[in-house]
Amino acid sequence: MKTKRLGLAIAASCLLVSAPAFSQTATASRTKTHVQTLASDKFEGRLTGSPGEKLAADYLIAELKRMGAKPLPGMTDFRMPFTFTAGSKDGGSKLTVVTEIGDAKNSAQVSGGGKVIALSFSDNGEVSGSVVFAGYGIVVPESQGFGYDSYQGLDVKDKIVVVLRYFPEDADQKTRAIVARYADLRYKAQAARQRGAKGMIVVTGPRSPNAGEVVPMSFDTAIAGSGLVAASVSGESAAPIFAASGKQLEEVQKELDSGNPHVAGFAIPNVTVTLTSNVIREQQTGHNVLAYLPATAPVAGVSKPWVAVGAHYDHLGRGTTGGSLAGKEDANQIHHGADDNASGTATVLNIADAFAKAPRRRNLLIAFWSGEELGLLGSNAFVTKPPMPLDQVAAYLNFDMVGRVADNKLTVQATGTAAMWPKVLEQANVAAGFDLVLQEDPYQPTDVGSFNTASVACLTFFTGAHQEYHKPSDTADKINYEDLDRVGAFAAAIVKRLMESSDAPQFTKVEQKSETGGRAGLRLFTGTIPDYASDVKGLLLGGVIGGGPAEQAGLAKGDVIVEIAGQSITNIYDYTYALELLKIGQPAKVVYMRGTEKRETTLTPAARK
Ligand SMILES: [Zn+2]
Repeated sequence: MKTKRLGLAIAASCLLVSAPAFSQTATASRTKTHVQTLASDKFEGRLTGSPGEKLAADYLIAELKRMGAKPLPGMTDFRMPFTFTAGSKDGGSKLTVVTEIGDAKNSAQVSGGGKVIALSFSDNGEVSGSVVFAGYGIVVPESQGFGYDSYQGLDVKDKIVVVLRYFPEDADQKTRAIVARYADLRYKAQAARQRGAKGMIVVTGPRSPNAGEVVPMSFDTAIAGSGLVAASVSGESAAPIFAASGKQLEEVQKELDSGNPHVAGFAIPNVTVTLTSNVIREQQTGHNVLAYLPATAPVAGVSKPWVAVGAHYDHLGRGTTGGSLAGKEDANQIHHGADDNASGTATVLNIADAFAKAPRRRNLLIAFWSGEELGLLGSNAFVTKPPMPLDQVAAYLNFDMVGRVADNKLTVQATGTAAMWPKVLEQANVAAGFDLVLQEDPYQPTDVGSFNTASVACLTFFTGAHQEYHKPSDTADKINYEDLDRVGAFAAAIVKRLMESSDAPQFTKVEQKSETGGRAGLRLFTGTIPDYASDVKGLLLGGVIGGGPAEQAGLAKGDVIVEIAGQSITNIYDYTYALELLKIGQPAKVVYMRGTEKRETTLTPAARK
């Protein structure tokens, strides 16, 4: 104990000793208390905006006060509120189809549940007009060098377009791989709006998965509409529209499914529709918890006088708003989120604790984000309206799921955001001794993404996906506390290095590798849980979803997929791409490694509702 204190006193000239108060004994018992408290039943899974979130924030604020941290400059409170859409529901959308042929006038109106539902991103309002069928409603941008435009030759200005959900199923692999990327309904709505349409009706074609069904109102955090009145209607509700065209939808779809982009859409004569969309968006307020430990010496002359550490403290509540991987048997139970992310939250508390008593050349920003599980909402709100100019932040270190170190492995991502990171990490690891996996890519599904977007040099620490990910069983007893404290000590050494040097990491922009990400996820369900932290060649499975196609195919945690449907897989991007080529209900050959043994199986993707 004494020697450590001494080390601290002379630390100004001595870099890279592990951070002072981070002796394992000092933090060990505290870490466990933090995780057990945050992951307890009482906190009910810490859903953003819920009473459980408030209890967790209260706990964090009490800890911050205990260590002498202050609200950020210009703020009187530790809480930073942000509003978000907690859910959407249909508030009574309806469709009226009026057919007029000669003197005969027919009117049909449908409303309610299975017949017409607004798309979650629809504007609220009523539109009327004539109707144009625009095939799948897909427009592949010219930059892709692939001619596919459902609107070719169509005039949809001030009209209402009817489009099919999904994309041509029978097209060759290359075509499907390209059009799938532009088949997202938001993207289709954008294409319709840009061409002057005032409304969009989506029908799930008779040849598609979920044939004839409406699109369920998805959980969507959009605050406002997309500038278009849009709804999905059942096949039955759309029938009078197509009847007026004198064509069979099944025949039309069959032609389109060949993927031939020259199969034209058409105006439907003698029909006028009135579409009323009503989306009720429930606004709620979430709370980041923010504090700082001011520099202990004047910061004049120090470039970028802030260093930031953060972790999201929210989780999934009872898993009812999306993101849950709970099986049927434990649905609606409290998702404890011990690893995700009580572990990271405890680590940030420990780092703050360590620096509360240490000299600091920079201010230490301590951030606990909420809304992460709903889409990085809290960190996004922060970087959109930062309390201090973000070019004053030397670096941001993020901790998300760091409590399950196995085989001494620790993954650090976003290392491409500053040239100095690999060296800094390597040096700090001399004392820590992890088997480090460094990944340059900062486009990660955690709050580090917000800081990368804001051009702040950043890192995120991660100990890997596991079987309990996003399930109620992610509990405090499964945390590897000893190694969790080693992660904290390792990160604290990096923070110390940043505190002591007067220059700052230089932000480098990393190009994004995958363009739009897993669009296939919209229609296809394989039940695989990729281990995003893996650096093995192929796709390492962090787990499989109980009862899903992957489990039925005999795949299990630890298997490495090296080929699927004839596509070789070397990384997660290959896998995402390959998924777009699969067909629902059609068996695909999977080649995988189990240990050193090469095996083969057949996986049949299911439709995602
Ligand atoms: Zn999560």
